[in-house]
Amino acid sequence: MPGEHARIQVVKTNKDYGYAKILERTETSPDRVAPPCPIFDTCGGCTIQHLAPDAQLAFKRDIVRHALTRIGGLDATDTAPTLGMTDPWDYRNKIQVPVALQNGAFAFGFYRKRSHAIVPMEHCPITDPLIDAIVQTARQIAEEKGIQPYDEQRHRGSLRHIMARIGKQTGEVMVVFVTKTDDLPFRKAFIDGLTSRYPQIKSIVHNVNNRRTNAILGKESRTIWGRDAIYDKIGGITFAISAHSFYQVNPSQTEVLYKKALEFAALTGKETVIDAYCGIGTISLFLAKAAKHVYGVEIVPEAIADARQNAERNGITNASFEAGKAEEVIPAWRAQGIAPDVIVVDPPRKGCDAALLDTMRAMQPQRIVYVSCNPATLARDLKTLTADGLYQVKKIQPVDMFPQTTHVETVVLMSRKDK
Ligand code: SAH
Repeated sequence: MPGEHARIQVVKTNKDYGYAKILERTETSPDRVAPPCPIFDTCGGCTIQHLAPDAQLAFKRDIVRHALTRIGGLDATDTAPTLGMTDPWDYRNKIQVPVALQNGAFAFGFYRKRSHAIVPMEHCPITDPLIDAIVQTARQIAEEKGIQPYDEQRHRGSLRHIMARIGKQTGEVMVVFVTKTDDLPFRKAFIDGLTSRYPQIKSIVHNVNNRRTNAILGKESRTIWGRDAIYDKIGGITFAISAHSFYQVNPSQTEVLYKKALEFAALTGKETVIDAYCGIGTISLFLAKAAKHVYGVEIVPEAIADARQNAERNGITNASFEAGKAEEVIPAWRAQGIAPDVIVVDPPRKGCDAALLDTMRAMQPQRIVYVSCNPATLARDLKTLTADGLYQVKKIQPVDMFPQTTHVETVVLMSRKDK
């Protein structure tokens, strides 16, 4: 931990960095706290529960500042303090727990760090308490009935994952059972046992994943009880979320993040906006209220179908969506004469495609708002976007979307120098 001293044993050295094991801590940081979770040491989920909340925020600001300076070659001294949560627990709106055959027995819990061994889990303190309890009830039913857990080595057995998701604003819950087998054994027992106890459950889905893969969900989903989707609200806009939808896992901080993106976009109602990597249209619809028109693009066709429905459901008529790769669709829009005043991007961890960065520079919007879940690729892309001197980084705002972990989200505002 920053500021601590320890006796270490060096295990590997590289040119610029090395690895070591801690033998004994000789000086303890005042920021070190007792991690509340009993499986913190073994579970691969949280990594910094032992760091005090304020120190976590400072640490995340440093991660962003270092990446932008070292990788991006930028002046990041003005990186704003990380926006955190007042109570950084119980925040996750989704929990997905692997089920496996381990030492001949039913195991339910999270993977150990860098491994597929399961650490038994009875309660997850960063997850919403209701869905935390629901997955445990589902586990009890599974164990009582004696359902075959999935055996990864032999690729046999049935139940692979139990997942639950809650719309925090509506209280609605979806439960998903993922099996290797085509059927869900004891289906009625699961449905009756869960719905009789939890009236908040509005949807139960059975997903089949019969491949040898680390991906949780297979292609095929069947609703076995209730609706195909649950609803949630962000900033007064209602979103439908189905089993396959990407949806931010920390809804209260999502609102903080989107408000920053909106503030940086500085919309007056006259602007044409492009929202690249738009998912189910969350940012697009959030911005549409303040813009002339928003164009959203996203690679997953189902998400685009959801985005269109979400626009309609909320009576938003100035947002349109297209399925495809951002790096292909946006150049096509450019050829059609669409000239954005603001471009917002929110790419996955690997960052933006080089072709997209070229198109963005060629389109010369007034402002670019970059929402990033990976400081390293953010830094790389900012370096490219600012290379020819047309754009300048104006604001850097880290947001803590994932307390107790080292993940950090960042919103960056870039503006044209000539404006
Ligand atoms: N802005 C949304 C989603 C961000 S996650 C939100 O806040 O909810 C990143 C999204 O980028 C995912 O939905 C993913 O499917 C999509 N994506 C990945 N590669 C893409 C590409 N090349 N072009 C367009 N979308 C892509």
